Amino acid sequence: MSHRRKFLKQSLIGSAALFPGVVQADILSERKSLNAKKPLILSTWNHGVPANATAIETLSSGGSIVDAVEKGVMTTELDLDNLSVGLQGLPDREGIVTLDASIMKGNGECGSVAFLRQIKHPISLARKVMEDTPHVMLAGEGARQFAIAQGFPLEKEELSPKAKEAYEEWRKTSKYKPIINIENHDTIGMIGIDENGKMAGSCTTSGLAYKMHGRVGDSPIIGAGLYVDDEVGAATATGLGETIIRICGSFLIVELMRQGRSPQEACEETVRRLVAKSPNSKEIQAGFLAVNKDGEMGAFAVQPGFNFALGDMSSNELIDSKSYF
Ligand code: ASP
Repeated sequence: MSHRRKFLKQSLIGSAALFPGVVQADILSERKSLNAKKPLILSTWNHGVPANATAIETLSSGGSIVDAVEKGVMTTELDLDNLSVGLQGLPDREGIVTLDASIMKGNGECGSVAFLRQIKHPISLARKVMEDTPHVMLAGEGARQFAIAQGFPLEKEELSPKAKEAYEEWRKTSKYKPIINIENHDTIGMIGIDENGKMAGSCTTSGLAYKMHGRVGDSPIIGAGLYVDDEVGAATATGLGETIIRICGSFLIVELMRQGRSPQEACEETVRRLVAKSPNSKEIQAGFLAVNKDGEMGAFAVQPGFNFALGDMSSNELIDSKSYF
């Protein structure tokens, strides 16, 4: 556990001691009223804190909400210490890093890239797909060719020192088993709402560590890893992508909110669905974040350990999510 996360956890535990198990709900309802004041940005895991800071800065300097969610996660894509997002992430079984990303606006416009190699900012390429092509999704070599045509530099295909070390260690046994909450999966998903209620979201990842070559997760799949609708709200996901794709997780949350559930209820119902459809649910992790058009938020995960960053114009903090187990 990072020092910062430990510190934040401890400071939350102080208030939790009296009411074990209800800390996060309390924080969310407190924050709900605070954050009825938009704009606000939510993003997954510890790396959400610096990503939120960039997103908020982008908004403060006049950027749009879609600029904010793009620039926000670009921070994570560049973070050399991060082994689950960007080209420094852990590779697939063959030792190749392949990236997935998506971006969506509340008016339904969206773009994504999957199974992409050698591009430092897959989120920016996803935005290009959204804005400059008649398509929603480009994959593999086609996505890379599109990047070249758009002037994205091709990066050298070599593992970062940390990823190389981890991959070499893994090759000693080559066992493939999703492990909960360690850095074999930790996508950044970000959702945001501006002061006028316009929403956007982004999601970017190197996917599961040591996945089969060609495997694509939930992150670039609109409706699975990300969904945004200005009329209702937005949701994003992290965790074992196969389980999220099977239930169209982010779309499900937005549709549950459309039917009147709060973001928290929608996240909880979606996790219950995921658990019901996953015979091995005790061994997997998946987590969801949601915000509705009024700025109310929700977060829920299968296992303890999922956290998220909540940022607005005056604060940016890490919060532990409640979980099913
Ligand atoms: N959802 C991602 C995937 O399955 C992994 C993650 O969240 O870290 O590729």
